[in-house]
Amino acid sequence: MSEYQIQLVVVAGGPAGLAAAVAAAEKGVHVAVLEKRAIPGGLANSGMGILAIESHYQKEAGVDLTVEKAMKMMMEYEHYNIDGRLLRRYFGQSADTIEWLEGMGVEFEGAFRYFTKSEPTWHIVKTGKKIGPAAARLMNQKMAERAEELGVRIYYECVGKKVLMDADGKVTGLLATDKIGRNFVIDCQAVVLACGGAAGNPDLIREETGYRFGEDLFNFSSPAITGDGLKMAWEAGADRLPVRIEQAALCGGLDTLPPCVPNVMMQPNLLVNLDGKRVMDEEQMENTTFLGNAASIQEKRVLFSIVDAGIAAHYAEHGLDETSLVRNDPDVSGFPEAVDNALKRGNRSIFKADTLKELAAQTGIDEEGLLRTVESYNSFCETGDDEFFKKKEYMRPLVKAPFYAATIYPGGYGTVGGIRINENCEVLRNFKPIPGLYAAGSDACNLYNDSYMFLLPGNSMGFAVNSGRIAGTEAARYICG
Ligand SMILES: Cc1cc2nc3c(=O)[nH]c(=O)nc-3n(C[C@H](O)[C@H](O)[C@H](O)COP(=O)(O)OP(=O)(O)OC[C@H]3O[C@@H](n4cnc5c(N)ncnc54)[C@H](O)[C@@H]3O)c2cc1C
Repeated sequence: MSEYQIQLVVVAGGPAGLAAAVAAAEKGVHVAVLEKRAIPGGLANSGMGILAIESHYQKEAGVDLTVEKAMKMMMEYEHYNIDGRLLRRYFGQSADTIEWLEGMGVEFEGAFRYFTKSEPTWHIVKTGKKIGPAAARLMNQKMAERAEELGVRIYYECVGKKVLMDADGKVTGLLATDKIGRNFVIDCQAVVLACGGAAGNPDLIREETGYRFGEDLFNFSSPAITGDGLKMAWEAGADRLPVRIEQAALCGGLDTLPPCVPNVMMQPNLLVNLDGKRVMDEEQMENTTFLGNAASIQEKRVLFSIVDAGIAAHYAEHGLDETSLVRNDPDVSGFPEAVDNALKRGNRSIFKADTLKELAAQTGIDEEGLLRTVESYNSFCETGDDEFFKKKEYMRPLVKAPFYAATIYPGGYGTVGGIRINENCEVLRNFKPIPGLYAAGSDACNLYNDSYMFLLPGNSMGFAVNSGRIAGTEAARYICG
């Protein structure tokens, strides 16, 4: 075994780890980052931006959301079943974090809503291209560059394995493997764990949440994100909290199709379960956390979004009810051809039929139930008197063949939570800090009681960057006194 010494080891190089490394290095601490992959950024490289409240962008745009209001919103939404002190520190520093990142050369497009009813807290990273997925990669690159400028050594393709501790339970080092699989030990005073949860570990997801990945859960995943941070912390004696899915809803298999297909099928369309019954005011479908929750309690955890040719043509001609910055092409005129192509290629998530009976047969929806629901839904469209109080403007009858259906399952942006931390991001054992051990990002994001707070978008990457910054700052305080 080779031996190395450094003051602080950060595992790993996602936004939480990079923020921790920069924050600690800014205080003069010698930091090493170990990252399993060959590039920085983790799962966040697919994302677009981070939450901030009372940022200069929001002030310039006259947004009236305050930290106080956002705190109250989130504490009530999560039923006070989350750490208010941690949330206060995260939200309170979030505006300053935007300026901190700008100081590293990160630019933002401004503060955006994810969907109409959400607040404009989503600070999307500017890339010089059209707003869209993977913008946050640039933020991660800038943080990695800043870390290296400050003297941080980032070791790629290195895997953190075990936190080493002395007899008093104080951190003394980290066991890791290098890119050719050799074990080595780094002596250090503190470790920050930021391994991003367990999005790529179906067994852990199954054990912790009951979901079967790829069957009734269509999570975003990464093979590198296997729950290592959780396991290292638990092995070190950390208090174990529930690991949750950062739940949203996904049209299983649709996100591989041209955006016009999911764009049409994720509108406030008629939504039914396998009995052919409606389950919610479809206007709320835009909040995919709500939609994912609604799907998760149905038989086989599935719902179907249904449109007819007339509704698809309406969207093509008059525009979508809900546009998406993620699926950022609002032109859906190519929808019929895109569905035909998908069906030719054997896509099993989208259905097309000349009659509702045939649609029921293809999808497995109860035929009688579906026919009854469409009949009553069409009459609600005329009277405007809907059983779920859906707004009249979203009520459109299904009368014109062909009919289309898409399956909607619970999905998510990975897992969140599992390691108990306090507002200093210190890892807790029996509610007391383990000296020298910190955790940040998805590994420690216990801020969503049963549901992701999508009304304040950018919340998970926002937590990653801010908790990483807190962990790095506090680790520096611990090391330097
Ligand atoms: C498609 C998509 C879009 C998203 N968009 C947004 C968005 O716009 N806004 C938002 O708030 N959130 C978004 N999210 C969620 C966001 O990506 C996460 O909140 C964020 O990535 C969490 O950061 P993290 O640093 O905790 O983990 P990650 O970004 O997952 O990074 C973890 C890192 O740990 C490394 N690693 C794992 N184990 C080890 C080990 N043992 N040793 C060394 N390295 C290890 C991994 O390789 C990875 O690089 C999105 C997620 C997805 C999937």
